[in-house]
Amino acid sequence: MTASEKHCRSCGGSSFVQGSDYIQLRPLNKKMAFGSEKIYTVCLDCGEVLSIKIMNPEKLKSKE
Ligand SMILES: [Zn+2]
Repeated sequence: MTASEKHCRSCGGSSFVQGSDYIQLRPLNKKMAFGSEKIYTVCLDCGEVLSIKIMNPEKLKSKE
């Protein structure tokens, strides 16, 4: 499924932009651990956030 085939579940629009707030998400029990930034996919027509992805999910894995 390519980006152009996506449709907003709120308004049905098909124009999206990906952005990040550059705030890292960290595991709850590891405040000092490295986290990963998030990528938001946002509808340009109504602002609905279609998805939030973690940029580097492997960073949230425990290293035990
Ligand atoms: Zn929309």
